[in-house]
Amino acid sequence: MTDTDRKIQEAAIKLTPILDFSSGQVLNPHGLLEQLKHGPPKGPVGTITRISRFSTEDGPGIRTTVFVKGCPLKCEWCSNPETWKLAPEIAHKDRSCTMCSDTDHYRCVTACPENAPTSSQKAVWITEWEKEDGEGTDGGPRIDRDVCTSCGLCVEACPFGAIFWYGWESTVEQLMEMVRKDKPYFDSSNGGITISGGDPLMQASFVAEVFRMAQAEGIHTCLDTSGSGSVRQVEAVLPHTDLFHYDLKNMDKEDHIRWTKGSNTNILRNLKIVAEAGKHIIIRIPMIPGIIDTDENLTEIAKTAKDANERVEAAGGPEVELELLPYHRGGVGKFYELDKDYTLEPLRTQSEKELRRMIGLVQDIYPHAKVEGRDY
Ligand code: SF4
Ligand code: SF4
Repeated sequence: MTDTDRKIQEAAIKLTPILDFSSGQVLNPHGLLEQLKHGPPKGPVGTITRISRFSTEDGPGIRTTVFVKGCPLKCEWCSNPETWKLAPEIAHKDRSCTMCSDTDHYRCVTACPENAPTSSQKAVWITEWEKEDGEGTDGGPRIDRDVCTSCGLCVEACPFGAIFWYGWESTVEQLMEMVRKDKPYFDSSNGGITISGGDPLMQASFVAEVFRMAQAEGIHTCLDTSGSGSVRQVEAVLPHTDLFHYDLKNMDKEDHIRWTKGSNTNILRNLKIVAEAGKHIIIRIPMIPGIIDTDENLTEIAKTAKDANERVEAAGGPEVELELLPYHRGGVGKFYELDKDYTLEPLRTQSEKELRRMIGLVQDIYPHAKVEGRDY
């Protein structure tokens, strides 16, 4: 690429609106690729669903948390099902849909070029029904995912944002341009950047390059991962990650497959790799009642944390921390927006008394354990 081409590319990237920063709405998920007609991107391209600034819950200090798309697991309790698929995808919200009451047709249905295979119905259609939990209105769009080609014409057609994009493509430099705006806050609070998902290992080369650049600029890096990637993916991010938030779920392999649709073999192997590199690790446990918070499972998790700590210690790294995260029922609405079924029955969150007993059980085996940042 000549210098002139590069300048044109850089100018185009700045000019074409991909995101409405005031609302966080994605305007053009593939904008980046369109802009790059003047040459290939400099470095890897990532797909992001959300950027949360001034977070105080995703690592030390004030942080910018970047949620990226793609996950090899499909946990039934997932709070971010919009990150499962790697590519940008469309979703819908009943409460924003007016059913085009100002016109005599549904704009999104009319705009959709894809006919369903068995009827004249389009890939997007309108339903009229009451949602039981009161979240919806008396109707709204649904999308036949087998027929939809993600062309985005229905998104453009809806003036109310009732059909919208999850995800947009970004270069490393575009993301870093946003992240470094908060450097003064990171510096004053010992904060930094956290990349979460999905599982960021699915975009390992993009994440590694973002973290490499962040560290070079004195920004602390934290990876929020399920650990379910390949050795190669882990090794790509390892040198550039200061802190690992490492999720563990079911220790029994069959239970893990049942509840997350994926094996824990790679997860447990990768934890050893990270530990043997002497990294700062916080093992985090989503305490799903009756599924993850059983005595048997917590006992195995505590033993695994103890083993990881011995490996980190041998490599001269800091103490492994273990954090139990009480259950909350988030993400249910997003399953609906994406036409997925939420199959987990409503579960009761743990009482204070139950949490005390559970943390006691864990601490008997591995003392450096907390409940969501609280000492017991
Ligand atoms: S994105 Fe899917 S549903 Fe929307 S117009 Fe295109 S094919 Fe139809
Ligand atoms: S989703 Fe938008 S375009 Fe489609 S019926 Fe509702 S308001 Fe109209």
